[in-house]
Amino acid sequence: MTKTADVVIVGGGVLGSSIAFHLAERGVGVTLVEKDSLAAGPTGRSCGIIRQHYSHPITVRMALESLHFFENFEERVGGSCDFHKTGYLLAAGPDDIARLEANVALQQSLGVNTRVVSLDELRELEPGVSTEGIVGAAYEPDSGYADPYSTTVALANRAEELGAKILTGTRVQSIIVEGGKARGVLTDEGRLEAGSVVLATGPWSPRLAAALGVELPITLCRVQVCLFNRAEELVQDQVFIDSPLGVYTRPEGDDLMLVGSIETDEAQAGVEDPDHFQRVADFDAVSRYSEQLIQRFPLMEKGSFLNGYASLYDVTPDWQPILDALPGVENLYCAAGSSGHGFKLAPRIGEMMAELVIVGKSPEDDIEFFSFDRFARGQRVDGGYAHKILG
Ligand SMILES: Cc1cc2nc3c(=O)[nH]c(=O)nc-3n(C[C@H](O)[C@H](O)[C@H](O)COP(=O)(O)OP(=O)(O)OC[C@H]3O[C@@H](n4cnc5c(N)ncnc54)[C@H](O)[C@@H]3O)c2cc1C
Repeated sequence: MTKTADVVIVGGGVLGSSIAFHLAERGVGVTLVEKDSLAAGPTGRSCGIIRQHYSHPITVRMALESLHFFENFEERVGGSCDFHKTGYLLAAGPDDIARLEANVALQQSLGVNTRVVSLDELRELEPGVSTEGIVGAAYEPDSGYADPYSTTVALANRAEELGAKILTGTRVQSIIVEGGKARGVLTDEGRLEAGSVVLATGPWSPRLAAALGVELPITLCRVQVCLFNRAEELVQDQVFIDSPLGVYTRPEGDDLMLVGSIETDEAQAGVEDPDHFQRVADFDAVSRYSEQLIQRFPLMEKGSFLNGYASLYDVTPDWQPILDALPGVENLYCAAGSSGHGFKLAPRIGEMMAELVIVGKSPEDDIEFFSFDRFARGQRVDGGYAHKILG
């Protein structure tokens, strides 16, 4: 049976749900199609860290606007995103301190509540930390982490209240193209016609686009996160990004610490098929993270490993997403390639994509920054850090 919508969004991760919310808010008839359940992909495995530290004014503004969205989530959306405003520290070594200071000045000029802190102040904020290898840190008291699953579900629920249809357990088999235009999607349940189609399918995007002859410059990399029982004596209050050691940690509940990597060479851990990769953390990651934790938080000698998992980043060459219409097929859009930092930007990305679908873009738009063809034009938008995930 054929059904219709103004816009079909493929993918019910945080980006798809945010786009659905912003389109529905603008009165557009949306159907979101998710093959599994909402947030079943990398969104549901995301660490949910929210920060505003970026190297470019556009990404700083996006992060700041998204922060305000998270802060006002209950009134704006309803439901909860479970935002913990713990504060955020980004520690730098001699190689990145100049970049960090320049970024903090940029952020301050754009209204972000942040400052560079000395090692003494760093120790006051995180008394359990060893400052070996660190020369300074950026501090954001208003940042922290939220729950990506709750955020995604709340956005989709609100979109539904505003008239959107949310179809879970429904796989899109192909995008229907007629006369050079996207006309809808073919799902397991039948044909769904639409004026526009948005691919928000994270690591599954390259395959869906390839079937239309569009080669997305997105690779998939396997990333690992481990949870440790915190040593009883150790207090960890902040989200802590450790550039010298190449890891991030954040508190999880009252007595756990979550650890992941910010090393760019994770991108070498390539995965071909997003449905088949090793989903448990491997021994190497567990032992590496254990050593790094003890190095940075010496009391973690008394901590212990609890469990770990692996998920995927969908990564572009500059680690920034593609937010654009795709070439060769009219009315087909893509919001993918957000690598390891798309959750915190999702509120603003949803808004930018809604505007793109409704009114198109002009070269002055921020969204131009995330164009599909920037790589072919040699206009990558890398941030200034060696750890590209920092942006
Ligand atoms: C371990 C890990 C930690 C992270 N930590 C952070 C962090 O601390 N802060 C941060 O900002 N970001 C973080 N990220 C990144 C962030 O989670 C992602 O950028 C974001 O979740 C991407 O959302 P998405 O909606 O694009 O993709 P996804 O979550 O991949 O959603 C895509 C959806 O599309 C569906 N789909 C695919 N194919 C089809 C089809 N044919 N038909 C229907 N549905 C389909 C999938 O089932 C999936 O649900 C992390 C990511 C990972 C993996």
